[in-house]
Amino acid sequence: MSKLVLARELHDSLVAMSRASLPNEACGLVGGVATEHGWEARSVHPVKNSLASPTAFALDGAAMIDAETRIDDSGNEVIGVWHSHPTSAPVPSMVDLANAAVYDPNGVFLQLVVSMQGFAPVVRAYLYGDETTNESGDTNGQLLRKYWLVRFGS
Ligand SMILES: [Zn+2]
Repeated sequence: MSKLVLARELHDSLVAMSRASLPNEACGLVGGVATEHGWEARSVHPVKNSLASPTAFALDGAAMIDAETRIDDSGNEVIGVWHSHPTSAPVPSMVDLANAAVYDPNGVFLQLVVSMQGFAPVVRAYLYGDETTNESGDTNGQLLRKYWLVRFGS
């Protein structure tokens, strides 16, 4: 089973950034390292949502390069893209999937979705384009592997 290890501190940081950008979607990059069983996140970075929309996001180009540079400088690699869903479930939307198919057809980057919909925010991680699992119930038939999120710390 593939795993993303996301420390409590990083999880809480994603939620805080998502809350700060309400009512619009927040987005950014995740830095980390590959592990035997998946990935371990080491840092999370906000990137300006150039669409400034409550239902869509696009990573601002210059801000994304800044975040990539910070991740590179820390000795880690970009392992994922995160964004928030202010009022919907922690499941990639049809647009999210379409964008993943265009920008990440080989499933190189995790997609982390932070749902602010409920009383308690929920973070989930997905990898696009894995042919071994079809989470069809969640994704309208698109190929998507759901990652188990492992949190350390309290
Ligand atoms: Zn989305």
